[in-house]
Amino acid sequence: MTVPRPRPRLALALVEGGAEEPPPPEDPGPPPREALVLRYGELFLKKGNRRTFLDAVDRRVRRTVADLGAVVRPVHGRLLVEGVGHSPEALARLRLVFGIASLSPAWLLGREPGEWERLAVARARLAQKRGARSFAIDTERPDKQLPFRSQEVNERLGAAVVEAVGLKVDLGRPDWKFRLELGREAVFAWEGALPGAGGLPVGTAGRVLLLLSGGIDSPVAGHLCQKRGATLDAIYFDAFPYTGPGAREKAVELARILARAQDALTLHVVPFARVQERLRDGAPADHLVLLYRRMMLRLADRVAHRVGALALATGESLGQVASQTLENLACIEAVAERPVLRPLISFDKSETIVLARRLGTYDVSIRPHADCCSLFAAKHPVTRGRRETLERLEAQVDWQGPLDEAAAGVETVRVGEEER
Ligand code: ATP
Ligand code: MG
Repeated sequence: MTVPRPRPRLALALVEGGAEEPPPPEDPGPPPREALVLRYGELFLKKGNRRTFLDAVDRRVRRTVADLGAVVRPVHGRLLVEGVGHSPEALARLRLVFGIASLSPAWLLGREPGEWERLAVARARLAQKRGARSFAIDTERPDKQLPFRSQEVNERLGAAVVEAVGLKVDLGRPDWKFRLELGREAVFAWEGALPGAGGLPVGTAGRVLLLLSGGIDSPVAGHLCQKRGATLDAIYFDAFPYTGPGAREKAVELARILARAQDALTLHVVPFARVQERLRDGAPADHLVLLYRRMMLRLADRVAHRVGALALATGESLGQVASQTLENLACIEAVAERPVLRPLISFDKSETIVLARRLGTYDVSIRPHADCCSLFAAKHPVTRGRRETLERLEAQVDWQGPLDEAAAGVETVRVGEEER
């Protein structure tokens, strides 16, 4: 394949001006194909296992859009998604894939500068209609073997836009920017970029067991663990028959949404009512929430051990409710054998809600249901629990039997395999 050296437009006009016959119109060829370009995020930090990280991102991207008919291929350090055009559905899904820094709708081009020029002019016309007065062309040339330099391409395309559309060059703060990437495997153009989800690809940080209630917070906490590469299992404590089957269904639905970011997700459903009854019968109502939580962590640890989870995670946020004072968090986690991750510790509720909406869990979370934690509990639980008090109360109650029964009765629900 030969690529002609670019000829400045003005020179062309001078030469051709004197010709007797007008030159034949250039064959515009097929219109450029639409594609999506994805840029990797923080992965440069991971020098040693960079390949593993890139493969994990590629795999997640493929899985996310496979059912839309997308074909994904890496090109000069980017990921190209073809076969879905600029589909808003594909973009919305890909914006949630961890390990992606940004995404752009793009146009795949051949290797003829004439084609690049035609697209630049067509897009410039559109930009002008939308109010742009100034522009810049920015070419990158990952393929250093191409027989011309980026600056020459910028000048050629820039001159064409000035001549055909009349926009003004402004390299500092252009109203519209047209970018070209000239790579060996692909040449493409793009205009703007959407922010990606950032983070690290799911599956690169080990397993975390998320305590998933039907509330707003815990699904978001799980999402943030996934953001740093963790693969989730989830555990739900079911107060059935005190809560209806709808409460459990909510947890299943939330788990299904979280499963989109990984291959599949196992939700462990613990029959918790017996444990709660036993505590109710033997301990004061204002300490019940803390006692429930300690039992939850004990049971979660057992499940974590079985599934190889290295940490637990909750949706707790400092000071958000009575059970979430520092004193109470300390009382709760005293019984855990693993680190308890609390990604929302510094979040305001409104910040959590923004993320919950983006993730798609919010509408499920706000469906009315009673959580097991309020069962039998005092309206005003202790805000400054003391570990010694809780240990004393636990010593007075025979909870080991009900705890073992709950552990033996755990059911697992696998979600995420049926879709995609
Ligand atoms: P959420 O919105 O996640 O329910 P919250 O602000 O309502 O959180 P709490 O109800 O005090 O707070 O629960 C704190 C955390 O304890 C939850 O984020 C969750 O991780 C865990 N948790 C509470 N109830 C359950 C449950 N029934 N099953 C599993 N985990 C639970
Ligand atoms: Mg809750």
